[in-house]
Amino acid sequence: LVRIRGLRKSFGGHLVLDGIDLDVREGEVTVLLGPSGSGKSTLLRCVNHLERPDAGFVELGGEIVGYRPGRGRLHELRARSLTRQRAQVGMVFQQFNLFPHLTVLENITEAPVAVRGVPRKEAAARARTLLERVGLAGRENSYPRQMSGGQQQRVAIARALAMEPRLLLFDEPTSALDPELVGDVLAVMRDLAVSGMTMIVVTHEIGFAREVADTVAFLDGGRIIESGTPADVLADPRHPRARAFLSAVL
Ligand code: ATP
Ligand code: MG
Repeated sequence: LVRIRGLRKSFGGHLVLDGIDLDVREGEVTVLLGPSGSGKSTLLRCVNHLERPDAGFVELGGEIVGYRPGRGRLHELRARSLTRQRAQVGMVFQQFNLFPHLTVLENITEAPVAVRGVPRKEAAARARTLLERVGLAGRENSYPRQMSGGQQQRVAIARALAMEPRLLLFDEPTSALDPELVGDVLAVMRDLAVSGMTMIVVTHEIGFAREVADTVAFLDGGRIIESGTPADVLADPRHPRARAFLSAVL
């Protein structure tokens, strides 16, 4: 479903992604590990073209993200086409990013109604189903500030699912949570994985990586220095930097 080749990105002369190749098959979960500043968030942001790569490309379902081919070169997509493409990719951030002035239901129905033209009633019915799925049935009229961090993050997951994405990106979804709230969020993510959702997850939750990931990729200095099954990468990393990182987080 996702094919990344030769992806490079610098910020002001500082090379952040140094030739990333990565494949994510339909229905698979890839966990990205790596130290702070290794380029994990930048990589995720390139996948839905929140960052424009300097070289290389991301393909989603056979289409190049952010560009269309034409007359021998690539042209950047116009806003409308880009919006349509991005609607295929849901993103969940560390800081939830819910709209504080909207209710839970409004947070979830906003994008499907505005971007996809789903009738409001239909969007609301679907939102209730999604709330049930993330363990928050009946909370549709709450405001984000009335909920715990873990509950807000589960609303953010429901909001991402409301667009019926083909791919979900998670950027340290549990890092801002009190430890006792982490489990509920990981449980929802595990259910999604089991249901066949394709996901790329940046997390330091090694237990989640071990149980749920099909592939673990280890980033360091903008390169994938090691990747493979969790059993291979987590139990016996070959690269010394991966070893050092893992012994620090375990
Ligand atoms: P963390 O674990 O701390 O979230 P990360 O692996 O997600 O780190 P990135 O956020 O991708 O790392 O950042 C990689 C490098 O790129 C960092 O040195 C960061 O300062 C730099 N960087 C990221 N975004 C920008 C930007 N918009 N402008 C300038 N520099 C940036
Ligand atoms: Mg990051």
